[in-house]
Amino acid sequence: MHITAAVARGADAPFSIENLRLTGPGKGEVLVRIIASGICHTDLTAKQNFPPELPVVLGHEGAGIVEEVGPGVSGVHVNDHVLITFSSCGSCALCETGLPGYCEQWVTLNGGRFGEHSPLARDGQPIVGGFFGQSSFASHIVTGVRNLVVVDRDLDLAMTAAFGCGIQTGAGTITSVLRPEPDSSVVIFGVGGVGMAALMTARALGVGQLIAVDLSEARLELALQLGADVVIDGTADDVVAMIKAATGSGATHALDTTGSAAVVATAIDALAARGVLALVALGEPTMPIEVAKLIGQGKSLRGSIIGDVDPQSFIPQLVDWYRQGKFPMEKLVRTYPVESINEAVAAAHSGSVIKPVITFS
Ligand SMILES: [Zn+2]
Ligand SMILES: [Zn+2]
Repeated sequence: MHITAAVARGADAPFSIENLRLTGPGKGEVLVRIIASGICHTDLTAKQNFPPELPVVLGHEGAGIVEEVGPGVSGVHVNDHVLITFSSCGSCALCETGLPGYCEQWVTLNGGRFGEHSPLARDGQPIVGGFFGQSSFASHIVTGVRNLVVVDRDLDLAMTAAFGCGIQTGAGTITSVLRPEPDSSVVIFGVGGVGMAALMTARALGVGQLIAVDLSEARLELALQLGADVVIDGTADDVVAMIKAATGSGATHALDTTGSAAVVATAIDALAARGVLALVALGEPTMPIEVAKLIGQGKSLRGSIIGDVDPQSFIPQLVDWYRQGKFPMEKLVRTYPVESINEAVAAAHSGSVIKPVITFS
């Protein structure tokens, strides 16, 4: 079939809206008409560094309506409304223990489908598809049944599209990685989509003290509205002192969403003895760590992808929180028709919009 997609043809070239050919669904696959797709920073990073070839259709926070199911698909039906998450094999040891984010086939299943393996082409030339099993910057995708979480038909798909990656990552890092208690103190470095999701989750769980650190005054203002007790301008030269003043002896838990070595060093200093810092952002590939600070005070660093959650059970939890008003996504999301994707990307780069979402009519 012929579809419309936003194609990345060069690291610095704008996305171009093109007509492509999509084949499938094959065995175990599902054809989904995309209603909305969030833009995640991983899409922008991938556009800059996509190995080994372009052009590619990115996008991995899709939401839409099932149009066709391929042979061997069960549990998903035509006209089901779905939120779309990453791919996993479902049969390796980590998938079987409910940790599909660490699937042994993660890279193969999420890194894109190339050449003749891609379902996408233009004028007979293959275009890389299947990014995170989705490539959701497109009017239609073929994806695996494990990528789909069926939701009620009245759910606003534009407001919830980002549950498949960014929101799930921030929320899961609180519920499944850091696991703060009501008397804990949590400091979140960077309140973009991931950080705001962590903040809303910690608030939903009744965590005692929440601190947000960011460079943007507007984001800090929103963090206060979403439940932060204290907000701190990250450009201040006494961020650690301010966190210690607010918490007494430092934060029991911290989350870095920036990938900046300087921020990570600050976060380690801001932890209380035996505190834990979760790292979820790929930024600077290596960072110097003062090991004595970890050893001497029993502090831990913990890496995590997609919040260590199983989307099949966790996304419904996020939907519940959204319906209960605990996840006011309308304060984070701004929608753009796909034709305006470059405007949406600029907003993501500048940070002026926390979660840009493109829509297809
Ligand atoms: Zn993402
Ligand atoms: Zn697996």
